[in-house]
Amino acid sequence: MSTHIKPTQNPTIALENRYCAHNYEPLPVVLSSGKGVWLTDQYGKHYIDMMSAYSAVSFGHSNPVLVHALTHQAEKLAIVSRAFYSDQLAPFLRLLCEMTGMPKALPMNSGAEAVETALKAARKWGHKVKGIPDNTAEIITCIGNFAGRTTTIVGFSTEAQYKDGFGPFAPGFVSVPFGDAAALEAAITPRTAAFLVEPIQGEGGIIVPPDGYLAACREICTRHNVLLICDEVQTGLGRTGKLLACDHENIKPDGLILGKALGGGLLPVSAFLATEEVMGVFTPGDHGSTFGGNPLSAAVGLAALTLLRHDHLADAAERMGQRLQAGLRAINHPAIRVVRGKGLLIGMDLDPAVISAREFCEMLLELGLLSKDTHDTVVRFAPPLTISASEIDTALDIIHQAFNRLTTTTETTTAERSYA
Ligand SMILES: *Cc1c(COP(=O)(O)O)cnc(C)c1O
Repeated sequence: MSTHIKPTQNPTIALENRYCAHNYEPLPVVLSSGKGVWLTDQYGKHYIDMMSAYSAVSFGHSNPVLVHALTHQAEKLAIVSRAFYSDQLAPFLRLLCEMTGMPKALPMNSGAEAVETALKAARKWGHKVKGIPDNTAEIITCIGNFAGRTTTIVGFSTEAQYKDGFGPFAPGFVSVPFGDAAALEAAITPRTAAFLVEPIQGEGGIIVPPDGYLAACREICTRHNVLLICDEVQTGLGRTGKLLACDHENIKPDGLILGKALGGGLLPVSAFLATEEVMGVFTPGDHGSTFGGNPLSAAVGLAALTLLRHDHLADAAERMGQRLQAGLRAINHPAIRVVRGKGLLIGMDLDPAVISAREFCEMLLELGLLSKDTHDTVVRFAPPLTISASEIDTALDIIHQAFNRLTTTTETTTAERSYA
């Protein structure tokens, strides 16, 4: 019997649809357990996870070292709020600062909150340090950016659906083409406080800018006294083959945003890191979060960073990424327009005249591989950084099978292509 049940016939999916807001359109699989790069659905079918929860599960599902850190700390002390000190926060932030080379950190939970923290820091720095007249600071962002879903953040998105109906939006944002340093320089005015950029646009379709782009942005920002803030919520912590994607161009931002993998795939943990001068704008009462920096998150974050360093997972991402990219390029199917990415953040752009990325992901699901389309035509491959060479080969084998099916079914109609 096929375990692939139409969503309308699956009682678990029907129940979720009955009660949960329809703000997502999940692939039709109900997952119930996970171990390493493998996930298991409610019927016991195994899938290799090439998505890792949008890069949040870099250490693999239920990583035993991290689960131990979580349960051990949960039994001791979980939440105290920052009305008090805890013995867990300082060691976590010390390692985070040491590893990233940033002097100060402000702990938050979700990526969007850390981005909001960066925006507040940049504006206040602009007004109080740079001397921009109050309430006029501008922040430059990129076309195609993704930084989360708060009202301020979607306000500077260039994706119509992210904004539609959610205005009015906060003023003070200007957008420029991604990958074009000259456009950044041309957009800078005396009111510009910061340039916010993803080193590789993740949700935008795994868009890799030209070599030298970030280094040029660094030079331009320095020359104009504009903060360079890198949103590495997705690209950071080893994902692209270096600890930070900034490291590929040996640049240091003034502000750095981390999230996703920082929580070890167990909790939402994020942080805004910055220079002393930038972080110095925050004084007690300016900004905060009930859960940000709680002992449970700090213990898991510390364990995650320790594991990242100890197991050389950035190097592993580089090696496994090369193996995966080489394997994807070798497929050489006419439906593939391009394969791009760095480390284990890889996008495969498909010709929509042949198949949509969503349909391709549904085929992969049927064959036992989980991935997620982004931007209609791109299938992302971003497995846990702990993936082994033989698991990469297993994934490539499944992707081959999907293209073989595609070749034998392209003459049939889309309806007939739905897999029995
Ligand atoms: C996912 C993401 C965010 C938002 O993180 P959430 O935890 O979903 O709020 C911000 N920036 C980038 C680059 C991301 O990929």
